[in-house]
Amino acid sequence: MSKISIRLPDQSVKEFDHNPTVLEVAESIGPGLAKNTLGARVNDDKDIKDLRTVLNDNDQIQIITPKDEDSLEVIRHSAAHLMAQAVQEIWPDVKVTIGPVIDNGFFYDFDSPRAFTPEDLEKVESKMKEIAKRKDEVTREIWPKEKAIETFKKMGERFKVEIIEDLGEDEVGIYKQGEHWFDLCRGPHVQNMGQIKSFKVLSTAGAYWRGDSNNPQLQRIYATAFNDKKELKQYLHNLEEAKKRDHRKVGKELGLFMFHEWTPGSPFFTPKGTVVYNQLTQYIRELYNKYGYQEVITPQIFDVELYKTSGHWDNFSENMYFTEVDEKRVSAVKPMNCPGHCLMFASERHSYRELPYRIADFGRLHRFETSGSLHGITRVRSMAQDDAHIFCTEEQMQSEIESFMSMLKEIYNTLGMPNFKVRLATRPEKRMGSDEVWDRAEKSLAKALDVMNLPFEIAEGDGAFYGPKIEIHFVDAIKRSWQLGTMQVDFNMPKNFGLKYIGEDNSEHTPVMLHRAVLGTLERFIGIYIEHCAGRFPTWLHPDQVVVMNVTDNQADYCDELVAELKKRNIRAHFDARSEKLGYKIREAQLMKIPYMITIGDKEKEAKTVSIRLRNGQTVQNMSQEEFFDILEKDINDFNLESPLIVQDESNQEENY
Ligand SMILES: [Zn+2]
Ligand SMILES: [Zn+2]
Repeated sequence: MSKISIRLPDQSVKEFDHNPTVLEVAESIGPGLAKNTLGARVNDDKDIKDLRTVLNDNDQIQIITPKDEDSLEVIRHSAAHLMAQAVQEIWPDVKVTIGPVIDNGFFYDFDSPRAFTPEDLEKVESKMKEIAKRKDEVTREIWPKEKAIETFKKMGERFKVEIIEDLGEDEVGIYKQGEHWFDLCRGPHVQNMGQIKSFKVLSTAGAYWRGDSNNPQLQRIYATAFNDKKELKQYLHNLEEAKKRDHRKVGKELGLFMFHEWTPGSPFFTPKGTVVYNQLTQYIRELYNKYGYQEVITPQIFDVELYKTSGHWDNFSENMYFTEVDEKRVSAVKPMNCPGHCLMFASERHSYRELPYRIADFGRLHRFETSGSLHGITRVRSMAQDDAHIFCTEEQMQSEIESFMSMLKEIYNTLGMPNFKVRLATRPEKRMGSDEVWDRAEKSLAKALDVMNLPFEIAEGDGAFYGPKIEIHFVDAIKRSWQLGTMQVDFNMPKNFGLKYIGEDNSEHTPVMLHRAVLGTLERFIGIYIEHCAGRFPTWLHPDQVVVMNVTDNQADYCDELVAELKKRNIRAHFDARSEKLGYKIREAQLMKIPYMITIGDKEKEAKTVSIRLRNGQTVQNMSQEEFFDILEKDINDFNLESPLIVQDESNQEENY
């Protein structure tokens, strides 16, 4: 028999006299690697293959061990089966269904006569630990379909029978864990249950079989698993942090916004919240000047003819609000600024020399979202965006995308948001325009990202109905990812509106339209930002930059003087003159996360100085007024994330941002 060659990532080749499994290849390299093998990537395939997979001649493989981030997929997938085994060892009458891996963990849906209690979850976790400790061997068998159906039928596993019947395959994969327990699966699975070392059972929820409310109700258990204890601990810590940082809770504590049942999903920004909102838009406005945008103000309500032309009528109407202004004219409240901007562009003749033509609009938008999907200020019906549209030639697209990315980086850096990932979202099912146009648009976005050396992932089918887009996914302080900025290429809307410019050749051409936003929906951004910084806004963004507090009435006149001077310098300061104890006032200011808490006693009054308390607990005694004003103004003008007076404790840095 001729030799079978398996190629390794370092270009070396291993030869076998038979078709080896992934694990056999690992064993041929060394026992240490074999012990840690969890699966393999074969021929750059997207899915990770089971370590028991039999390889073909000339296959290229990359063995996955706990060191690879991808190994989490195998660990979590196997942990879902571990959980199913644990549940059935405790309650043999509970039947299994499916247990997929999800972001940050996995779940398993059980057909259970009981709803699991928190005590039950503890039991499940200890049983999982017990099985993992036993290091139950995982083995794979291939069963004929009939045998599998008969076996699961006998066990009363009706959902497994249904799955096998739906698969329509002659043979199915069965994984045994230990001697007795087994589940239907495709893999990939670990070698033995002892490889699953760090896991936590988290919560339960009701769920329907196949997500359909006409089907039987199941009991879902959520859990997570990691490669080591440290990562698991960090994740559980972040979960706790997420609860503490919830913008609905923090926003209420800081008094930033409110809601009313008469206008669901539509936040009211209080005077304090409005300061944050306006500071953000003001900052973006200053950059518009630098990056060559002109701000415009456009109408709120349009005849539906506009939306029939733009494509919103066909593709977005279920999210729009309509109104009848007189007998026959149906109008719609704008859900996006783009169609209005097309009317503006069309109102004048444009030469290629005027392109790119960039217009920005903070106009209020209304989009209907189902009440079930509303969430604080991160999912709303009334919103504004840092929205702009760029009309340009196809040749200009690349430099426009580059310029957008530098603007985005500048803004995210200023806001203390350095971590983000880029995704390229391609054509969705519901779309307008020909495939040829989509091909061109998708290619040019990918090319621009390549030229900038920006690594990106493809998000199949996630594009807007009018064009593909670049999505910026910001990773926050507790490692959660949020889609914020976008840049979308649109060849369709300019065509629908008959937009033209006169080219160098003196004839008419259709411009490309780029839709872009850096922060996206401002309401949503503020919600996410609150959770990112845990309400500790940088001084320039904080509604209360300075609070002045007196020890006794004796210092009230000096405090008034100080606040007047601060206001003259355009600083948001107030005097807490209540006759409460100083400690009480400080505690309250601390809860409001005010960057500068000034305490004034007789000593400060006499020397015309200030004593400063920072929100990390640090204090500075008797600083001269001038020095304080200088530091404060520097903090604000430099858009610092924290006061320059704060001495950052290295170990604390991660916590803060
Ligand atoms: Zn499985
Ligand atoms: Zn747009």
